[in-house]
Amino acid sequence: MAQSEQEYYRKKLDTYFSKDHETARYFSITDKGITLYAEPEAKAEVTLSWREVDSLKNIISNIPGAELEKLLTEKKDSLYYYIKKDSLHYTHAQSLKGMKIAIDPGHIGGTFHMGETESRCMNLMIDSTKQIELVEGNLTFFTAQLLKKKLETQGAQVMLTRPDTGISSLGLSFFEWKRKIKIRGYTDSLLKQGLITDKEIKLLHVRMEDKNLFSNVFGPMDLSERARKINAFNPDITVIIHYNVNEKNLGWTRTSNKDYVMAFVAGCTTSTDLKTLQGRLNLLRLLISPDIENSVSLSSDVVTHLSTDLKVPIAKKTDASYLSEHCLSTPATGVYSRNLALTRLIHGTLVYGEPLYQDNEKECCLLTAPGENVEGCTVANRIALVADAYYKGIVDYVNSLTKK
Ligand SMILES: [Zn+2]
Repeated sequence: MAQSEQEYYRKKLDTYFSKDHETARYFSITDKGITLYAEPEAKAEVTLSWREVDSLKNIISNIPGAELEKLLTEKKDSLYYYIKKDSLHYTHAQSLKGMKIAIDPGHIGGTFHMGETESRCMNLMIDSTKQIELVEGNLTFFTAQLLKKKLETQGAQVMLTRPDTGISSLGLSFFEWKRKIKIRGYTDSLLKQGLITDKEIKLLHVRMEDKNLFSNVFGPMDLSERARKINAFNPDITVIIHYNVNEKNLGWTRTSNKDYVMAFVAGCTTSTDLKTLQGRLNLLRLLISPDIENSVSLSSDVVTHLSTDLKVPIAKKTDASYLSEHCLSTPATGVYSRNLALTRLIHGTLVYGEPLYQDNEKECCLLTAPGENVEGCTVANRIALVADAYYKGIVDYVNSLTKK
C-alpha cells in the first residue's frame, strides 16, 4: 500500500510540479510518509505518516488556511481529533440539485475605458468603415449570467464573484476604490483582511497611472478577494470564465486567423510560491488532495463540449508560447497545468476555461452579433453557446461522479 502511494505521489510531483525543479526538493516521499521542508535540505516543517495522509487528503481542501497552519505546525497530536469534527464531513452533492457552484467571470469590464485600464479590451479594424470593440470582462460576465441561470434551473446554488460589469469582487469599481483609498481606515481594513500588503500601501502614495495602479495593486487584490470569496463559499465546483486572444497579434488592432480552446488547472508552482509557510501548505494541499485530478476531469469534459459545440480546435502545446514555456501537459487533451493566482489559491475542483480567441476574424463578429436579451443587455448567440457548452461539460462531469 505505502509502496504504491509513494509511487503515486512521486508521479504526481513529476506530472504537475516539475516545471520548477526546485519544488520537488521541498518534499520527501518515503515508506514512512510525506515530509515538507521549510527550504530544500533544511529542517522538516511538517511530517505526515501515510495514515495521516489518508485521513487528511479528502478534507484538507475544506480546512481554512489559518486553521490548517495551526493544526499541522502547532498541535499535530490532535490531528485525528480535529478530523472527526462534524463541519469537515461535508459530503459533496452527487447531482446538480443542491450542488454549490462558484462562477468567476474573469476581469472587470464595464466601459471601454475600464477595459483599457485593466488591459483587457480591443478595437479591431475590420475594414475602412467597420471597427469592432470587445471588452473581455463583459463577455465573461454575460457568459456567467447565462450559465448561472441554467444551473439554478437544475437546483444548483450558484455564487458569482462579482455583481455586475464594471464592478470588482470587492463590490466597487476601480474608480470608486481610487477615491476610497484616500481614507486611512479603509486601507487599514484591507491590510487587516490580508488583501493588501504594506509594500502595496506604500505604492499608493506614489503617483501612478491608472493602468499601473491596476496591475500593481488593484488587480492582485481583486484576485485575492475572488479566491477568498470562493473558498469561504466552499463550492463543489468552481468555474473561472475567460476569453482568449492570439498572443502574437500584439496591439489587437487587426483580426487573426487563429482560434483555439484550452483550459487550465493548478500545478507548475514555482519556488517563489514556497517562500512562505502558507505557500508551502498550499502546495501540500495540492499534492495530497485529489483537487488537481478532479479539476482535470471536469476541465476535460468542458473542453470537449466547447470544442465540439463551438467548432474550435483544441490547443496543442505548440500552439501558444505560454503553453510550452509556462505550462505542463495533463493526461487530458487541451487541459494544461498552469500556476495562475486562481488555479493556485482556489480549493477544490475547478475549470479555468479559455473557449476561443476574441480577435479571430470570425469570432469577433459572432461575439458582437445581435442575440438574446440578458438583464437588459443584448448578448450574442455565440456567448449563449459558450455558456451551454460549459453547462454540458459540468453535467457530464457530475454524471461521472455517480459512476465512480
Ligand atoms: Zn482573461
